[in-house]
Amino acid sequence: MAKILDGKVAASIVKNNLKNDVNELKEKGINPKLAVIMVGDDSSSKIYVKNKSIACNDLGIEYEEYLLNEETTMEELLNLIDKLNNDNTVHGILLQSPIPKKLDINEAFRKISPNKDVDGFNPLNVGKLVLGQDTFVSCTPLGILKILELNNIELEGKNAVIIGRSNIVGKPMIQCLLNKNATVTVCHSKTQNLNEITKKADVLVVAIGKANFITKDMVKDDAVIIDVGINRNIETKKICGDVDFENVSKVASYITPVPGGIGPMTIAMLMNNVVKAAKQSK
Ligand code: NAD
Repeated sequence: MAKILDGKVAASIVKNNLKNDVNELKEKGINPKLAVIMVGDDSSSKIYVKNKSIACNDLGIEYEEYLLNEETTMEELLNLIDKLNNDNTVHGILLQSPIPKKLDINEAFRKISPNKDVDGFNPLNVGKLVLGQDTFVSCTPLGILKILELNNIELEGKNAVIIGRSNIVGKPMIQCLLNKNATVTVCHSKTQNLNEITKKADVLVVAIGKANFITKDMVKDDAVIIDVGINRNIETKKICGDVDFENVSKVASYITPVPGGIGPMTIAMLMNNVVKAAKQSK
């Protein structure tokens, strides 16, 4: 039976360490502050943003929210980002996705100052990650590395398979795992013979968005399973991951639950990135 990689426990370890950093910054007269921009009325985004504000509050990080309506123009969005870039009291800027389709999210990400880009979506920071340089790394992949590290799970030389190639999870995950000397394979919706590839994974990271997609027969014995998916089970209405937890946990060595796995780690690493930005601010 697999050991549970408990994201709530790991996230509280990360956040407790950050509390000391926040206090030290405050003693130096720096009050870490995160500004969150939300455009439109996406119901999931509201929950994510609420969780981020709670985490800030717990750690004594200042939190500012900008709620823009559906009709917001690109110019207005860019002007707001510009204003926040130039505000010395703001250390981290986060643009919650999705935003309305008529707006160009990539242009908005490019506008966020690389020094305040706590989500790691500015192309400069993405490039630095690819080159193995210190930068702001997307919070979910960073959270995955952290939970593995806290549980002493070695990545060097391991076969790591990622399913999903989103800019938010899959692609930065490739670099994170490569930087830890894993041998990395990425699968996606056009991959053929998926089972053959997943069966070879020592570490399997799943970020697809399809409930219970990964079944026991797709997983090697003693594999480490990281389930990023957040789905609502149609029958039970409960939140579940992309992995059939009940059966896969019978063969895996470690597995993250959903909820209570990578979700809390993502928020903890966002806090980590805000503190990092505040430390680097002048
Ligand atoms: P996405 O929704 O942008 O894309 C899905 C990816 O899955 C694509 O790259 C696609 O190629 C791949 N895919 C789809 N069907 C497939 C199939 N049959 N076989 C192989 N690959 C397939 O991805 P995302 O934004 O990374 O989100 C994925 C999931 O992770 C969602 O459930 C999302 O809610 C969740 N998520 C969770 C967190 C967290 O903090 N826990 C953070 C981000 C995303």
